[in-house]
Amino acid sequence: MDIPDLVQYPKARSDEYDKYTPEQISRVVKQWLFIGDTSHRELDREILGLDSGKSKGFESMNILHYLGLGPVFKGVFWDCALDNVIDGLRRNCQDFTDIIDHLEWEERNLDFKVCHKLTLIGNARDRNFGRRLKEYLERDSDIGGSDNVDLYRKEQAILKVLIFDTLTELQCSICLTRFPTDLMTLAYIKPRSQCSELERLDLSIVMPVCQFGCGSLYKHNYLVVDDRGRISAVDYKLVPDSLLLTLKSLEGNKCSWFSDGTRKYFSYTRQLLEHTGQLRFV
Ligand SMILES: [Zn+2]
Repeated sequence: MDIPDLVQYPKARSDEYDKYTPEQISRVVKQWLFIGDTSHRELDREILGLDSGKSKGFESMNILHYLGLGPVFKGVFWDCALDNVIDGLRRNCQDFTDIIDHLEWEERNLDFKVCHKLTLIGNARDRNFGRRLKEYLERDSDIGGSDNVDLYRKEQAILKVLIFDTLTELQCSICLTRFPTDLMTLAYIKPRSQCSELERLDLSIVMPVCQFGCGSLYKHNYLVVDDRGRISAVDYKLVPDSLLLTLKSLEGNKCSWFSDGTRKYFSYTRQLLEHTGQLRFV
């Protein structure tokens, strides 16, 4: 692992470094070292929540300069695992103590790790992955229009770029109708909050669903997928007749995303409902 020399900036100041939270600084440092495609302006906007037109990237630049992280560090560890980098910095003859602290801060932060590792998966598959992800984030008005791309949404975006790939349309896993991909989303087959890091890195953890309700019906446990991949309606809530008709019309469909890879996640979700006594079929 090549570790550049820290840069001494004569005009470096601690004002910005002292102004932001440890989490923000940690994310700026990680983004700079590991995700090389982010400019200072983008760091200001995405992590510090600033209007980058006004801040012009100077806030994050000053944080990085204070730590001696010049352009030569940008994306320098893009293909390395966080733990290995921390190890390498610790053994280096330069003093990386503060930077290691920032890398270790929220090291348990699963969201960051998952985003970074999914990005590595994307980079390994397609050398244009970074550009495609960036384009996706810019295109998504929900994200592009906001000041802060949180890691949750970034994770969704990465998964979409990985799974939708270059397809222009896709079949909804539940209603089996084909839709343009901008009318599709991804639903977690097993609730995300209960997934381990490895499960969140498994692309089988999500399924493509249309935005016309299928994802919500699954997420809110109106539907389950049985062990043969059949959609079944669940009867534990009183529902209006019109919804009952919809559920009935979906029942019996063979989930198009059911496979040996997804079976265990569908099963987990069914068992959750069984344990809570909520699983009764219509
Ligand atoms: Zn659908």
